Amino acid sequence: MLRVISNLLTAFSVLLFIAAVALWVRGQFAADVVFLRRQSFLVGVTESRSGVAVLYGHCDPASSPWAAKGLGLEWEVERPQPVSRLFQWTKPQINFAGVVVYGGDEVGVAMYVLVVHLPFWLLLILLAVLPGVRLVRRWTAPTRRRRNGFCAACGYDLAGLPTARECPECGAARG
Ligand SMILES: [Zn+2]
Repeated sequence: MLRVISNLLTAFSVLLFIAAVALWVRGQFAADVVFLRRQSFLVGVTESRSGVAVLYGHCDPASSPWAAKGLGLEWEVERPQPVSRLFQWTKPQINFAGVVVYGGDEVGVAMYVLVVHLPFWLLLILLAVLPGVRLVRRWTAPTRRRRNGFCAACGYDLAGLPTARECPECGAARG
């Protein structure tokens, strides 16, 4: 069961990694802005030229600044945007190596806004961790098995078979 979950997570990481690379390329030509607007809150995600940003905002429904724009799910394609454009009305609290975070009340629109921007390079590193560990473990598995007295090819326990030249389980020559 644990193995199934681990395999699923690894496959998911690989898929997201490929998607992030594709989005990085697309981000040079366009910016997709996907957001869900409700009466009192808004969540959205967009890519900049250099990363992905998640946006969240909430406000008093009575003075909802986006009520007039209509509620629902929207997808807009805009011109490619530098990170600075995401934060043009705000002063980020964190701005380090492409990681940019702003959270606070937006003066003039009476709403709370949270924007988190993660650079593509960081996303790719994070998404590569699990598949990377799995790959390294796979490469080093034969050496690890041999060292512990198991068949390097199939992992069969060769303890008590000191003279066998081949693995009785799979027939591989002992290294
Ligand atoms: Zn074997």
